[in-house]
Amino acid sequence: KSRVYKFGDKSADGNSTMKNLLGGKGANLAEMSLIGIPVPPGFTITTEVCTEYNLLGKDTVVNLIKREVEESIENIETLMGTKFGDKKNPLLISVRSGARVSMPGMMDTVLNLGMNDEVVLGLAKKTNNQQFAWDSYRRFIQMYGGVVLGMKPASKDDIDPFEEIMENLKEKRGIELDTEFTIQDLKDLVFDFKAAVKKRTGNDFPTNPWDQLWGAIIAVFNSWNGDRAVYYRAMNGYPAEWGTAVNVQAMVYGNMGENSGTGVCFTRDAGTGENVFNGEYLINAQGEDVVAGVRTPQQITKLGSKRWAELAKVEEVDRIENYPSLEELMPSIFNELNTYQDILEKHYRDMQDMEFTMQDGKLWILQTRNGKRTGAAMVKIAMDLLKEGMIDEKEALLMVEPNKLDELLHPIFDANALKSANVIAQGLPASPGAATGKIVFFADEAAKYKNSILVRIETSPEDLEGMNIAKGILTARGGMTSHAAVVARGMGKCCISGAGALKINYKRRILMVDGIEYHDGDWISLNGSTGNIIEGKVATMEPELSGEFAELMKLSNKYAVMKVRTNADSPKDARIARTFGAQGIGLTRTEHMFFDIDRIKAMREMILANTVKGRKLALEDLLPMQREDFEGIFEAMQGLPVTIRLLDPPLHEFVPHQLATQKDLADEMHISLQAVKNKVAELEEFNPMLGHRGCRLGNTYPEITEMQSRAIIEAALNLKERGIICKPEIMIPLVGTVKEFEAQEKIVRATAKGIFKERNETVEYFVGTMIEVPRAALMADKIAEKADFFSFGTNDLTQMTFGYSRDDAGKFLPIYIEKGILKNDPFEILDQEGVGQLVKMATERGRNTKPNLKVGICGEHGGEPSSVEFCYNSGMDYVSCSPFRVPIARLVSAQATI
Ligand code: ADP
Ligand code: MG
Ligand code: MG
Repeated sequence: KSRVYKFGDKSADGNSTMKNLLGGKGANLAEMSLIGIPVPPGFTITTEVCTEYNLLGKDTVVNLIKREVEESIENIETLMGTKFGDKKNPLLISVRSGARVSMPGMMDTVLNLGMNDEVVLGLAKKTNNQQFAWDSYRRFIQMYGGVVLGMKPASKDDIDPFEEIMENLKEKRGIELDTEFTIQDLKDLVFDFKAAVKKRTGNDFPTNPWDQLWGAIIAVFNSWNGDRAVYYRAMNGYPAEWGTAVNVQAMVYGNMGENSGTGVCFTRDAGTGENVFNGEYLINAQGEDVVAGVRTPQQITKLGSKRWAELAKVEEVDRIENYPSLEELMPSIFNELNTYQDILEKHYRDMQDMEFTMQDGKLWILQTRNGKRTGAAMVKIAMDLLKEGMIDEKEALLMVEPNKLDELLHPIFDANALKSANVIAQGLPASPGAATGKIVFFADEAAKYKNSILVRIETSPEDLEGMNIAKGILTARGGMTSHAAVVARGMGKCCISGAGALKINYKRRILMVDGIEYHDGDWISLNGSTGNIIEGKVATMEPELSGEFAELMKLSNKYAVMKVRTNADSPKDARIARTFGAQGIGLTRTEHMFFDIDRIKAMREMILANTVKGRKLALEDLLPMQREDFEGIFEAMQGLPVTIRLLDPPLHEFVPHQLATQKDLADEMHISLQAVKNKVAELEEFNPMLGHRGCRLGNTYPEITEMQSRAIIEAALNLKERGIICKPEIMIPLVGTVKEFEAQEKIVRATAKGIFKERNETVEYFVGTMIEVPRAALMADKIAEKADFFSFGTNDLTQMTFGYSRDDAGKFLPIYIEKGILKNDPFEILDQEGVGQLVKMATERGRNTKPNLKVGICGEHGGEPSSVEFCYNSGMDYVSCSPFRVPIARLVSAQATI
């Protein structure tokens, strides 16, 4: 078994398919070498050796790979015509880490390894460039000291010990840039650096190149189990067994003078996806200088220079001229680089992010990988590559990361404006987007300003209208599935929830953060994508649903088998969802309709009534309103199925809790305040989510079910009269026993039958149930005998299966996740292992009874990619999610099929 893979001079032992063994960087270095791109020769120690090191320790592993490493160094020496450790003609190397996926910041690279007091003299003589030789030496000690000898800043606020020495010298010499150091300065730095190492570690800096090399290799292996890497792995769910590879490679020098330099470039624009080659470089520089921002980097292309000058608001022409593009400064190198970027993009068939270095007029490529990009760029690049014939339709679909589509669907902050933003606190990024407005503390005051941000300790269903009017919602309490978060996501409205640092005083209408007060009417901005709460006004822009986005959706439809419906409670939501491609409604929550100002009164009358007769009277007032609602929704969705859920929440949510409103209600209904208070107290429950709700309401007050069924069927008939087809699906919530369902179904069917007779006209409709009580999942075969369809309410199903109260889980879920007790929030990502069993089982049992049983999901999970894929694999006919998640679910549905 090989533990070391060589590359260089148009050949290689490995290739790009071997990322697991060679790491991403190593596999691509091999591949580039194979296709004739000039990469400095080198070799990769495999990730398996890292695992062996963790098991067997240093000595054993060094013995295992010693011969191969020595041979491989010899190979580099032959190809470069230099010798490792030689005093006259030295080879210097870089030692680079590289896991199978890029893990930013996990481990640094050591450059210029092989240097010592004698080698530096030889290198200076050979190149006739003392400046370069000593600059390389001081860089080496600095990097080796930091990476291998642990000479890192002691704490976050501490300054890097080497930087400190450099800063002091710069100050003393009155210079600003690293390039301004004289040869003597650099020699002094080397001396001082070595002294600092001795002082801090107690040991002399290692002078033997081979000792240096083994030290660096072991340091890279150790970094795999360093705090940063372990944390990063845990966050992304990467297993420790992966290990990191080590890449050892001949140095090429970008710091040899005015004819040398280094840079990074992208084959397309990573921000917009535009097909323009772009990047930055620095003359006379090495390694990360470009990224580190010590000097202002220059643009690769002429066009880039022009754009940069506009953005940076460079006014004087001569300043631009001081920063010429590579295209202008070194046209032949630029042409060569341009050729390689083209070759590499075509070869990898994706946008590439590359590193390059030119040494004394010769160009070398040091790294290539598929470039990171924004959501907008991701879509455009996938569609463009498809059009250019570089990839096929399936590949284009798979190239798009579903969750990143979200970025395209909400207003966004202007990136420039964000740079100067003052972030005052952070909460959970509950619903993405950008919102700027004036603070209001009460939902019914949301309309007070043209742009308002609703700031609440938490929201309740009563706040719905105000939430809809506000530009954004900020809560001090509640998690990712709190009321505010769920509703906001449904609305596609920016929301930050659970910002614990906020102290809200409703009485004084004051928001306090860190001792600073913000008042009603003060400007505040929310970044729903990061959870940042920003003081004042930040400019926003409307997102553009570009042509490519529409193309992507069309393509998704071509491949998707499982349908995507939407959760919509109003004609407006239904219309938005349709434009996003929803293929029906999977959930209409009728209770939301009762909170509107003209309805809540009738609703409260109904609740306060002490007799069936009194309730029926109040329900008669509600009937025409509901009917009208349904007509609107049916019309918006014409031709497509619409699932309407009968009344679900506990009645307690509908009655007023403030004394003033209770008084108003008492006056309006000509009853005593005490009577209202009594009723409110009577409705109060210890555990409302497990209390008098769902079909338990319909079964205790059948007249509610009757009224709602009537409204639905009459609405459908009214539309039929107008020639509009609609397919109502009436859904009974919170069923746990067959009898519960049967009793409700009976009412629905009897009501429908009555109406058909009255009007001498019929319409096709279905009666089905939510599966959200674990018992219903267990009884699925029996329930399917009666029900026309199942819809998994995975919010409640998760709540009841775990026994976690959705409204209280915010207190412990974050801790559970931090401690690794839970991998993620089960209300956000469906727990496939546990809750998923119930879903699968209920689907199977239901279909055993009724093979063509229609099955879908309407919980929050219906818009979460991994859960959507699970739904497809469980054989569901559709998922249903909030309008703004519809495109995401459509894409996942297509990807799951492919
Ligand atoms: P990272 O993974 O953090 O990008 P790299 O291993 O790619 O770390 O190296 C860091 C920097 O050093 C990059 O700018 C890279 O181009 C440069 N570099 C690495 N190896 C060499 C080399 N052999 N010659 C010149 N520059 C190198
Ligand atoms: Mg790199
Ligand atoms: Mg439910």
